Amino acid sequence: MTAARVMARADELATHSAWADGILRAYLTPEQSRVNAIAAAWMREAGLRAWPDAAANVCGRRLADDDDRPALLLGSHLDTVPGAGRYDGILGVLVAIEVADRLRDADLPFALEVVAFGDEEGTRFGATLLGSRALAGGWQESWLDLHDVDGVSLRDAATSFGLVPERIASAARPAGSVLGYLECHIEQGPRLEALDRALGVVTTIAAAERRMISFRGEARHAATPWELRHDALLGASQAIVAIERIAQEQGSPATVGRIRVEPDAVNVIPGFAEFSLDLRDGTATGRDATWGLIRHELQRIAVERGLDLEVTSTHAAPEAPCAPGLRAAIAAGIRATGDADPVELVSIAGHDAMAVADLTEIGMLFVRCAGGISHHADESVREDDVAAAIDAFEAAVLALADQHRS
Ligand SMILES: [Zn+2]
Repeated sequence: MTAARVMARADELATHSAWADGILRAYLTPEQSRVNAIAAAWMREAGLRAWPDAAANVCGRRLADDDDRPALLLGSHLDTVPGAGRYDGILGVLVAIEVADRLRDADLPFALEVVAFGDEEGTRFGATLLGSRALAGGWQESWLDLHDVDGVSLRDAATSFGLVPERIASAARPAGSVLGYLECHIEQGPRLEALDRALGVVTTIAAAERRMISFRGEARHAATPWELRHDALLGASQAIVAIERIAQEQGSPATVGRIRVEPDAVNVIPGFAEFSLDLRDGTATGRDATWGLIRHELQRIAVERGLDLEVTSTHAAPEAPCAPGLRAAIAAGIRATGDADPVELVSIAGHDAMAVADLTEIGMLFVRCAGGISHHADESVREDDVAAAIDAFEAAVLALADQHRS
């Protein structure tokens, strides 16, 4: 029954969108305000005392935990990318609420809380994980000056939402008040489906780095002979194909998702080409080794074509390993559903857990999604998998309780 309720609730949250056709729910918007109120009501139904924190996350703590014992947090996010599916993040919040409901009267050696984060995707202000970074104590005052595409500052958006911008940082949980964080999330990849498994244990969240890479050559008339050309776009094209080859050989997912050319005219040889590179790997060491090979190739291409190469790092995050104790609890949870040998996998995608890792130990449960499709309206999960996820997540909390008692 509870899985059916999760599916129905995911459908209900999907109707709260900035778009009439498709799902878009960004940070500090009227849509977020509505889903936060709904999530708080569901938390109360589940026997939690619910409140919005200073960063527009919704938190709920068991009524039974009316003391200052450190809490185990169960959470994920309610915001979405543009054109999103209805489960990325949302499923984790709904499963957490179901588990809290089941455990409302359980005797646990720690407090139990559910957290629905307000910003993971970074859709509106560019910077990601704003909700979870605030909770983990990583809020930066400079983020108040970020702007959305309409020129609205985060400061003004926060004020309109009912927050006090200068107080957002107070959403930070004191060290010692939290003893761990568990997140249930759709896999956003095809591996569980290929292995015919409903659930998996995340071992680590991949290290990622984003760079802007540019080649500068010479803009010349399209009549210029071959031997006199220094075509920046040809250099970039060659580089992008080389990146695919090297990244595949090294097993480091790499994506060039944006490219810009100057002067961007049909009869002018491009004098400048700039593209983005998102590079990931199970470890920062592996990611950096792959980057070393890519960089070497970029330099070779630059020399060969007489171009100037420039590289700027715009974002870097180390891998976030899941804690052995929490991994063991998640694995025990999956075994409780009848899967004797739980699959372990690296999360290539980033998650709130990455930010929360600055505050406390993390563990993650992955749920199979059809075709590995995510960040798309076709994102889907099976109801029987959701039922297994709720059972496993509940059993994981109980396994962790056993660890703490012994
Ligand atoms: Zn997500």
